Amino acid sequence: MKHRSYLPEQERAARSKLSKLLHDKPFVAGSLVKMARTCGKVTCKCAKGDKHVSWYLAVRHKAARKMICIPRTREQEVMQWVNTYKEIANQIDIVSQQCLERLAITDKKERRRDS
Ligand SMILES: [Zn+2]
Repeated sequence: MKHRSYLPEQERAARSKLSKLLHDKPFVAGSLVKMARTCGKVTCKCAKGDKHVSWYLAVRHKAARKMICIPRTREQEVMQWVNTYKEIANQIDIVSQQCLERLAITDKKERRRDS
């Protein structure tokens, strides 16, 4: 492989991964948070300190942050969705970086002063 072809190759790979992920997989733009809480029942074990632990999905809805409790039976599935989203974001970063580098080259060559 020639040295010059390394960067575009990286971008091609990222774009290819991206389109596969977007095409095939469910994903969610959020992060997982494990939280322990008390349910409020005086007689429950949680009142004595043995709190209920569950995973929450933290998402943004408009400006607000929202916490969604994930049912135990769907934990694996939702974790997969979050991981897929992270992978998509990583690939987008790679493509974006490549485009930024192209912009930097164009700027130097053209020396445009529009303003
Ligand atoms: Zn409880």
